[in-house]
Amino acid sequence: MFRKILIANRGEIACRVIDTCRRMGVATVAVYSDADAGARHVAMADQAVHIGGPAPKDSYLRGDAIIAAALETGAQAIHPGYGFLSENPMFVDAVVASGLVFIGPSADAIRAMGLKDAAKALMHNAGVPVVPGYHGDNQDPEHLAGAADTIGYPVLIKAVAGGGGKGMRKVDAPQGFADALASAMGEAATAFGNDAVLIEKYVEKPRHIEVQVFGDGTRAVHLFERDCSLQRRHQKVIEEAPAPGMTTKMREAMGSAAVRAAEAIGYSGAGTVEFIVDASDGLRDDRFFFMEMNTRLQVEHPVTEAITGVDLVEWQLRVAVGDPLPATQADLTITGHAFEARLYAEDVPAGFLPATGRLAHLAFPDDARADTGVRTGDVISPWYDPMIAKLIVHGPTRAIALRKLEAALAGMQVAGTVTNLAFLRKLAGHHGFAAGDVDTGLIGRDLAELANAPIPCSRTRSLAALGAMGLDVATPLQGFNLWSPMRQTVQLGLGDAVVTVVVEALNRGRFRANVGETVHEITRADGWIIDGARVPAVVVRHDAGVSVFWGNGYHFTVIDPLDVAVEGAVAVGRIVAPMPGLVKAVFVTPGQEVAQGDRLAVLEAMKMEHTLTAGRDGIVAEVLVAAGAQVAAGDALIVLEEQAP
Ligand code: ADP
Ligand code: ADP
Ligand code: MG
Repeated sequence: MFRKILIANRGEIACRVIDTCRRMGVATVAVYSDADAGARHVAMADQAVHIGGPAPKDSYLRGDAIIAAALETGAQAIHPGYGFLSENPMFVDAVVASGLVFIGPSADAIRAMGLKDAAKALMHNAGVPVVPGYHGDNQDPEHLAGAADTIGYPVLIKAVAGGGGKGMRKVDAPQGFADALASAMGEAATAFGNDAVLIEKYVEKPRHIEVQVFGDGTRAVHLFERDCSLQRRHQKVIEEAPAPGMTTKMREAMGSAAVRAAEAIGYSGAGTVEFIVDASDGLRDDRFFFMEMNTRLQVEHPVTEAITGVDLVEWQLRVAVGDPLPATQADLTITGHAFEARLYAEDVPAGFLPATGRLAHLAFPDDARADTGVRTGDVISPWYDPMIAKLIVHGPTRAIALRKLEAALAGMQVAGTVTNLAFLRKLAGHHGFAAGDVDTGLIGRDLAELANAPIPCSRTRSLAALGAMGLDVATPLQGFNLWSPMRQTVQLGLGDAVVTVVVEALNRGRFRANVGETVHEITRADGWIIDGARVPAVVVRHDAGVSVFWGNGYHFTVIDPLDVAVEGAVAVGRIVAPMPGLVKAVFVTPGQEVAQGDRLAVLEAMKMEHTLTAGRDGIVAEVLVAAGAQVAAGDALIVLEEQAP
């Protein structure tokens, strides 16, 4: 086995590769850009080498710098992950020429599958069914329009060099063809530097079913299928394995076609053969067609690992070092069912706009595999894919695995940037999806409902207000019950709106929250009890504000809770810190007379300064803290007494 390898990637996939290396006793070298100096993959690796600026072309796409880093650190091989240089045959040639091993297929195999038109021709000759269409060299618009007429509408125009759903246009009728062609070609030229397209029959009720293959350069096996039909604009959202409704006969037909495809190009390592399936008549073994082969580890590979028990990265390393395939086809079996959901920083209601931001809070659910490249405090930057994590669940049946997916999504806590989490939850609860009735149009048909942002109810708003006041943690709150119940008005930002909650402290850990006309009585015990019922909500304060995780995650900014305090924010008696913070200044000394409204002290909490003022006229009896002290919520700061009559 290799002693040391370099991972030419970042984010979750770099971390995932490092995990397996560690388990196998293989040392790891990370590479990183300026934007990633503090990234998780850098912290996890045994060594890390800086390779350039934040733009991919200045770092993760710099093959020369990456190879130099491998040579300098004594790495013996390079794992490319996915994206970046993973399917670049020139990079593979350069790696091999420098005496290193490329953990993946040969440059020739990548070239054979690199362009969709050539790949389709090759597959057709190898006896693999392909989508009917035109994939010739003649790119004259008239000629292509004629080909579309022959194929019959609707058709799909695809960039031959395409990937990630780019350069693709569905055309329903001849009058739309010329415009769609021009825009597909334009997008392809920009994205891939190659404007050539092919024309395909648009498959009705399309399902995307792909087969994981693994080769040793001569022989190949398959590790069954994944269904990736839940897509938005040709991008996968939730994947599963095996495919719902798959029959033994069709699995056998698709598996052997995929193995034929891999063996036809002497494939070595992990690869995926993607098929489009016409499911208008259920799953039929004469209704699947080769679309393309991805000559790398796929984003969604963990669902295959979950049902087969195989660590695909371990297999990649073993085959790259020259070992035979670790298993025969007969050794491989399916156990249970698995789902993967892709959690992204994106604004779903705004049209799935990629988002950026600092992850003020991040906690993963129990009982799910979370593949991630970020931690609390890390930044989703504009430079790279805004993926936060992949959540993977496995269960004995599809129904149980789906329940676990819903639970995992409900238990996911993320704050600081907008995410697609609510959308994923709705999708996981979609009735058609639950029934296994999936196709690539499912999300689009129900988008309005799926993309709706959940709105926090008055109970959630009340909990957020308590969180903003620092009352979410169990600290002694003796100071809150003074002469009269304490009342505070808390203002929270919710998107563009301001939410106002009036909170009264009743006694230890008991509060009354008024949200407009609605009143809730809330007890903070070992969790939260609202109006007598225990609720599974989790309130988290962080430097972006306060979040309530209760099925969905609801996020609020805090509009200075003490500045808007009303009605005796601090009554006579013990003045306590309403939240944890730093004492910035103390303005009074024992024996001093104070009038209502006089400043007593300044507390800095959650990056804001809050002035504590006297609720009534009185005399300072005791000063218990000095400037510079760090105090917890509920700590007594100053004791006031009534003035002697
Ligand atoms: P999968 O089929 O595994 O979902 P995708 O096609 O979505 O894979 O791409 C996987 C990763 O590779 C994504 O992070 C995507 O951003 C990246 N990627 C895809 N195509 C390209 C490309 N042509 N150039 C650079 N990165 C790409
Ligand atoms: P990419 O390289 O961008 O991944 P693919 O050829 O794999 O491109 O196609 C991406 C997606 O487009 C598929 O997953 C499927 O949803 C849809 N698609 C591709 N070909 C067809 C087709 N002939 N008919 C219907 N949908 C298709
Ligand atoms: Mg594809």
